[in-house]
Amino acid sequence: MRLVIFGPPGAGKGTQAGLLEQRHGIAQISTGDILREAMDQETDLGQKAKSYIEAGELVPDKLVRQLAEQAIADEDYDDFMLDGYPRTEQQAEWLTEFLTAHETPLDAVVSLEVPDDELVRRLSRRRVHAETGETYHLDHDPPPEDVDPDLIVQRSDDQPETIRNRLAVYRDETAPLASYYEDRSLLVSVDGTGGIEEVFGRIEEVLEARAHRG
Ligand code: AMP
Repeated sequence: MRLVIFGPPGAGKGTQAGLLEQRHGIAQISTGDILREAMDQETDLGQKAKSYIEAGELVPDKLVRQLAEQAIADEDYDDFMLDGYPRTEQQAEWLTEFLTAHETPLDAVVSLEVPDDELVRRLSRRRVHAETGETYHLDHDPPPEDVDPDLIVQRSDDQPETIRNRLAVYRDETAPLASYYEDRSLLVSVDGTGGIEEVFGRIEEVLEARAHRG
């Protein structure tokens, strides 16, 4: 299947896309992860992206488009799930054209719905493992005791000020894409609140229903 997982920062896109990869072999393509890795490795791309990411702003379309294009081609245009792309109408238009040109249109856009106050709670309590990238939540999913606490860090863009900006950018630039995909009959909404497995079960259900619909 060719999917987009869509929703605000903190909705659980990365977590759910990771599970879809593990359990259904649908490759997770996270532009945020690719950019963070480039930042860690201090590549040219990483250096260009750093100031935008740390301010909670979007990285310029041109840079991110190249990543998306390469990652989709690496999956032979099939069985992938985009996580964090597209984020602007321009990106969505490009993606439609790119996939249409390869005759590999999207099957669905899964929209994870989570209220704003819950998003802020999740993002401010989120921690990541500096080496593995594993994500934790201090209240619901704390790091195991055998993990070195010095390696448990906060993402630089999970600071309160940046969180507020990321949510504002989402509201202004990304949220309108829901109607873009609704107009194309691709949007499926899923309640993103509750436990990880509970949400995953809902995603499996809607995707199955869609697959049967033909
Ligand atoms: P994420 O891990 O998806 O929350 O992405 C982290 C940051 O990477 C975002 O706040 C942006 O600065 C940047 N980023 C990731 N994906 C995109 C995209 N599709 N367009 C522009 N910037 C992006």
